[in-house]
Amino acid sequence: MAENDSGIILHQGKDKAVRNRHPWIFSGAVRRAPHFEDGDILPVYSAEGDFLGSGYFNARCSIIGRMLTFDRTPPLQALEASIRRALSRRTPFFDERTTGFRLINGEGDECPGLIADFYAGVLVLQFSTRGMDRLKEFVLGLLGEILSPAAIYEKSNLPSRREEGLSSGESWLRGGPVPSVEILEDGLRFAVDIPDSQKTGFYLDQREMRRMARGLARGRRVLNAFSYTGGFTVAALAGGAVSADSVDLSARAMELCAENCRRNGFPGLGLGFHTADVFEFLRAGPLDYDFVVLDPPAFAKRKGDVMNACRGYKDIHRLVFQKLPPGALVMTFSCSHFVDEPLFRQVVFQAAREANRGVRILQRHRQALDHPVNIYHPESEYLKGFVLAVD
Ligand code: SAH
Repeated sequence: MAENDSGIILHQGKDKAVRNRHPWIFSGAVRRAPHFEDGDILPVYSAEGDFLGSGYFNARCSIIGRMLTFDRTPPLQALEASIRRALSRRTPFFDERTTGFRLINGEGDECPGLIADFYAGVLVLQFSTRGMDRLKEFVLGLLGEILSPAAIYEKSNLPSRREEGLSSGESWLRGGPVPSVEILEDGLRFAVDIPDSQKTGFYLDQREMRRMARGLARGRRVLNAFSYTGGFTVAALAGGAVSADSVDLSARAMELCAENCRRNGFPGLGLGFHTADVFEFLRAGPLDYDFVVLDPPAFAKRKGDVMNACRGYKDIHRLVFQKLPPGALVMTFSCSHFVDEPLFRQVVFQAAREANRGVRILQRHRQALDHPVNIYHPESEYLKGFVLAVD
């Protein structure tokens, strides 16, 4: 039996992406596969028979394979090395003033299908693929040993699991239940309710922009639209904002937003907590604010949603540009992977044009340092944002 009989053989020319260390193999690239169970780890060969590395495979998915290594390192050993590299990559970025961060960012850290976030000693894991789900015990053992977390929560509720043939589920795997965790971000306190939350608990990817908001907020009246649990609200107040309104559809998020303001010593006065639809809020009000944060959810979850998403993005920007007083700042974001920065900028351009206001870009941003984008995998890029000045 030839060596490559037990592995995946790619079509001619389809080895190029893998040779460029792109972790994904699309089903159309596969010329021949041995019999395998979904989630099995297999070696991968070019049409010419060159060994390219190893990955895990799931025949149900259009991304049929995800590479764990591009050389002959045994795959689990390679995964362990990737996990250890991901952890040590973070060490220089954080001190005791920040106790919530992402430890493993899936493909961005060469750990396809695995997210690990750390909330002041509580580890939250997401397994998004069959292949990584099968490695759960291995990952748990390794992270348990390295980090000694007080508790581990699995939050495997990503929609991609369905395509992988997996059910969604969440539970405490070790320790717990932990009712609510308090994390620090740049010395500010935030309550994180891990089971009853969005993402894994907190939008860690916006840390640096909250830091920037804190630096820009002095003396300003702030509107935090799509506030979730008030990350930007608390940051702006810490930076000397004179008032802050927070708006989110989620009543639970708004409850925690008020709680987070209290925890940081910003009680009552000048604070508004609105459980409401941002579109309606922006249409109804006069918008007497000089600093607005717009951080909506991903309006485009699929490629086909892009047109509608852009309409939504344009609507909120036009309303804000029409109504804000001169000199206002707007911090705006899109976390839709399918709306890239040039397109997002085009949407902002059109909204500014329709509102007939002068608008300038003061700063731009991508996801935080603990959400790295692998240079070989541009698909892990999703968050982009601008700080705008309205004339
Ligand atoms: N800026 C936040 C994260 C925002 S996530 C932070 O730093 O933590 C997006 C939020 O938008 C979610 O909390 C979601 O509940 C809310 N949301 C989604 N659609 C909305 C709508 N139409 N109106 C108001 N809030 C909405």
